[in-house]
Amino acid sequence: MNSELKPVMEGIFDAGASPRLIGAICSKCNQKFFPKPMVCPHCLGEVEDVKLSPEGKLYTYAVLRTKAPYGLPQPYAVGWVDLEDDGLRIFSLLDPEKISELDFGKQVTLRVGAIGVDNNGQPCLRYYFTTKKKGCD
Ligand SMILES: [Zn+2]
Repeated sequence: MNSELKPVMEGIFDAGASPRLIGAICSKCNQKFFPKPMVCPHCLGEVEDVKLSPEGKLYTYAVLRTKAPYGLPQPYAVGWVDLEDDGLRIFSLLDPEKISELDFGKQVTLRVGAIGVDNNGQPCLRYYFTTKKKGCD
């Protein structure tokens, strides 16, 4: 990975060999969120950063074949991923190299890589989920 690239947004993920999304957990009601809200939308309690599960199941997805924004590859795919153990369904970019492997309920794993550009048109790191290889956990 190119370590000179900045994340598309600060504070939403840890890059590196084992990337993790940084969400939040409410100190009162223990609900988790991604991205991090200013306060808990359920009870207005304070929220703290929490690293979320890098594993999940693809709930649903869409492949977009129109002109891609932010320098994303064409076509690209987005979807909703149910994170393992976190009780969270999050919206995410999906691996543009694995579009043909996408399927409902598929096991997916978090990755961070150089995809597209940021708001200033600079190449950047983005998080995305990729399909798991069979027989390889
Ligand atoms: Zn709460």
